Amino acid sequence: MNIAGDLLPYGLGTPRLVEYQQGYFVDSEIVESLNKLTKDAETHGFKLRLESAYRPFEKQLSIWNRKAAGELPLLDANGNPMERPQDEEELMYAILTWSALPGASRHHLGTDLDVVDAAACPVGYVVQLTPAECEGMFRRFHEYLSEHFSSNAAFGFNRVFVPGRGKIRPEGWHIAHLPTSRKRLESFSLETLRQIYEASDMACKKVVLARLPQLAEEFIYPYFI
Ligand SMILES: [Zn+2]
Repeated sequence: MNIAGDLLPYGLGTPRLVEYQQGYFVDSEIVESLNKLTKDAETHGFKLRLESAYRPFEKQLSIWNRKAAGELPLLDANGNPMERPQDEEELMYAILTWSALPGASRHHLGTDLDVVDAAACPVGYVVQLTPAECEGMFRRFHEYLSEHFSSNAAFGFNRVFVPGRGKIRPEGWHIAHLPTSRKRLESFSLETLRQIYEASDMACKKVVLARLPQLAEEFIYPYFI
């Protein structure tokens, strides 16, 4: 790919990452704050565990393309498996229900994490990251997070995908270190994202490019907080 400028906001290039938990990499600048949040959670009886952290463009593109090709299940708004739409625009919106646009996932930033309370996780249980878990086994952990977020006592972390903001479904488990993610997003430009798409082998590319300004208003910019 031959595109000029800072490519880090799109999950391209080489960010400065630290392997914070096994297999999970985060921006080195958030480590100190994440240590503090982890320790604070511990004093309240919770064991903060990462279920997702940094994700490069290629990974998000692979998820996107496999969903488009029917190699990964497509889920409707209620989380139930759905038929793969024939119409390309319908297919694009179906993928967007649960997956971010490649190049516009906040997981590209290294400042955003999906977290659970390992102390409340039954042995052998495979975490799904669903609203039902937030209301169920992780309810106390989420109450703890909500309290600390609302009183600005979470060392710069907060939720991003909350009700009433943009078209992405609420994700209580997704937290971001906002002071750092704001810095990382300063250089984001839709024009660069367009160039990246034009050079990529992305499924539904034609309709994504045709709708890009609207998609940005619905799925990207509302979360630049
Ligand atoms: Zn997430």
